[in-house]
Amino acid sequence: MEKQQFKAESKRLLDLMIHSIYTNKEIFLRELISNASDALDKRHFLSLTNDEKRVNQEDLKITLSTNKDLRTFTIQDTGIGMTKEELENHLGTIAKSGSFDFKQENKDAEDIDIIGQFGVGFYSAFMVASKIVVESLSANDSQGYRWTSEGADGYTIEPIDRTEIGTTITLYLRDNEEEENYDEYLDTYKIKSLITKYSDYVRYPIQMMVEVSRPVEGKEDEYTTELELQTLNSMVPLWKRNKKDITEEEYNNFYMNKFMDWEKPQKVLHYSIEGTLSYQALLFIPSKTPYNFYSQEYEPGLQLYSKSVFIMDHAKDLIPDYFRFVKGLVDSDDVSLNISREILQQDRQLKIIARSIEKKIKSALVDMLVKEREEYESFYKNFGLQLKYGLYSDYGAHKEQLQDLILFYSSHEDRYVTLKEYVERMKENQDVIYYVSGDSIESIKKLPQMERVTEKGYEVLYFLDDVDEFAIRMLQTYMGKSFKSINQGELDLDTEEEKAEKETLKKENASLLEALKDALKDKVKDVTISSRLASHPVCLISDEGVSFE
Ligand code: ADP
Ligand code: MG
Repeated sequence: MEKQQFKAESKRLLDLMIHSIYTNKEIFLRELISNASDALDKRHFLSLTNDEKRVNQEDLKITLSTNKDLRTFTIQDTGIGMTKEELENHLGTIAKSGSFDFKQENKDAEDIDIIGQFGVGFYSAFMVASKIVVESLSANDSQGYRWTSEGADGYTIEPIDRTEIGTTITLYLRDNEEEENYDEYLDTYKIKSLITKYSDYVRYPIQMMVEVSRPVEGKEDEYTTELELQTLNSMVPLWKRNKKDITEEEYNNFYMNKFMDWEKPQKVLHYSIEGTLSYQALLFIPSKTPYNFYSQEYEPGLQLYSKSVFIMDHAKDLIPDYFRFVKGLVDSDDVSLNISREILQQDRQLKIIARSIEKKIKSALVDMLVKEREEYESFYKNFGLQLKYGLYSDYGAHKEQLQDLILFYSSHEDRYVTLKEYVERMKENQDVIYYVSGDSIESIKKLPQMERVTEKGYEVLYFLDDVDEFAIRMLQTYMGKSFKSINQGELDLDTEEEKAEKETLKKENASLLEALKDALKDKVKDVTISSRLASHPVCLISDEGVSFE
């Protein structure tokens, strides 16, 4: 056994790997499983292209085990394995990716989703292990080898007896530290949860012997514990399956489990985009406003997967803020990830995907508005406020996107309407969109000035949220029509006849108006004959140009 030395640079690199690249120690499992999955892909590919190397699909798998006494965590695969040279080159050289080379050499293997590319993932295991032993027999060799390393001071390679093709990696966990308990990686529950989080959709079964306790038949309160081989991952990602074959219940359960909601989603959006940047998306609109939706606590953003491996949660850049109520995930083979695979490297790719997602959500909402009005209105009750905030934010930059999604309660048939519906049924002589602000539908209905406007046959939009006036201010006009509060300035509702009548009334009552003005002189600017009123004697209005009465 001859001890090989890492080059000095490699030592420093290894140190960097362990301490700086990853923010999260637990991702070592994601990396090792991704490597095993790649190795299985390669063996499968070999089996397809070489009759002598045939292997049964059901023999391709990953097995996990732990030894609490030795404090070891072991991951075994029946993949392609590594020859002595490969152990040296791929594990002994940091930033050397055998998987990357494999893809280069086997162009026809392009459509197998090999995950590795940077040649650093393996070393993430040193974040949790002080010593790593890799035993492997390559499908292209008859001699097995053991590679052993305790990190920076190098590695040894020795021949071993091994008959099973594949690789077994044993991690000797680091001693527990004050802020880091490595024993948790011996815990079945923890391991299961990490697999679910990162590697649930790896295409090969990830199996482990798990202790299960069962009630003894006929005896109460008595249990036996047995070991049972369990498959920990669900393997096929729902979003990669054909839409036609997925039931509503499957979508609902997936959503409720993954996004921890008690209620099924109101809307499911499942689609796939092929192009310069391909991706699959599975998006959901919740059927209730999350309790913390309008607080700091709410974390918007989509989950990002690359090649079915979980990369990050709450990727905010994938979704515009005004659609932050959308939950779901995006899976793309094409995004280039940074070295830790924790974040995306290219903003541009993200932007292309984000723009495409935004379009999809917008058109799904428009579709719902047109075809399922009631559905849309209940969606709007949950999240309409967010859309109006969106209209208002960024100086109205999103008005094109949002103006047709906004609803207002309207005096027309007492229901929610779109601005388009309003404008399309405007009276011939009407050139503004009337609105009125108030706390509730009831209090608005009681406003004296409402009576005359509606009597004249004009429709009035009710602004019930504080943000409404701000949003409309950003919009300025809709289809060329501006907005006008019926509480403000001149309304110009009168016919010529009525105008003349008003003038006469003004003259006839000049002394009364003077007296009233005098009596209220500290409280109002003017007292005049109004054309706003029908059955009510009096109302308060504000000056043109003064906002928020
Ligand atoms: P990457 O996966 O980005 O290529 P890694 O550091 O994770 O980089 O792994 C380096 C290389 O080691 C891989 O490209 C592969 O050639 C080899 N390798 C790692 N794990 C295994 C394994 N379980 N079976 C076969 N080869 C492996
Ligand atoms: Mg890797």
